[in-house]
Amino acid sequence: MKYEGVVYRPPSEFDSLIVQATIGCPHNRCIFCNMYSDRNFRIRPVSEIKEDLEEAMSEFGDCVKKIFFADGNTILMKTDELLDILRFCRDSFPNLKSVTMYGSAQYILLKSQDELNALKSAGLSRIHSGMESGDDEVLRLIDKGYTAEQMARAGRMVKSAGIELSVYFLCGVGGKKLSRQHALNSAKIINLINPDFIRLRTLMPFEGTRIYDMYKSGEFELLSPHEALFETRLLVEHLNVQGSQFLSDHVSNYENIKGVLPGDREKMLDDIDEALELDPSEFRSPEKGVL
Ligand code: SF4
Repeated sequence: MKYEGVVYRPPSEFDSLIVQATIGCPHNRCIFCNMYSDRNFRIRPVSEIKEDLEEAMSEFGDCVKKIFFADGNTILMKTDELLDILRFCRDSFPNLKSVTMYGSAQYILLKSQDELNALKSAGLSRIHSGMESGDDEVLRLIDKGYTAEQMARAGRMVKSAGIELSVYFLCGVGGKKLSRQHALNSAKIINLINPDFIRLRTLMPFEGTRIYDMYKSGEFELLSPHEALFETRLLVEHLNVQGSQFLSDHVSNYENIKGVLPGDREKMLDDIDEALELDPSEFRSPEKGVL
């Protein structure tokens, strides 16, 4: 198996075989992200990806149940190539249950509905999509590369194809100024998509990112733990989804809010209210990440 640089994966893929189908991120501009700033984006040749899969097959064989194709935005690969590696996975690993990858809205939208349907048929089970926000002002601020309407359209296409969709909401990324509209408009877009999973992440400004510099210069105001919890509360209050699982499976969050909506909403709001009673000293510093 060949790996280049630090390999990132969603926490839920902790037990997946990870194969880098792409290296880096084709966007690489989000102001809070430095995951792939050390490498130029490229798509690996299918022959190389298959070599990695063959090696994994001979080493782990029947044990492989899940595969995650890193790095960022593997969905950008040509559909024919994706179909080729998905079918190869299906033919190679007899106990394979899921194949997943990252995909941002602007790259999902490069596919037609028929292409997404074909990817589902070939075995693509889930797309992890860093939505971050459903508010256009926030999306522009963070240089995400798509609009809220594009995010909603891409999400609905993925769901129509029968591919599971996990969207990530980045609490605090609108700062104090845009906090309210960030929560409310994100809820609106998530409601239009009805994703399978809504994953909460809370902004931690890492050195080397543009948002870190903006924070240090006073141009961007970080939310306090209580303000972040209040933003999350607003989001949860306004989510009108059916059967979406809400998860806080990340160390950046101030509180572990989870449940299936709409049934668990009241319990989730109670959990947030309980956390809002705590003294600020009970939480990690907003400035310092914990990673
Ligand atoms: S699209 Fe994702 S991986 Fe790429 S820069 Fe933005 S947050 Fe980072």
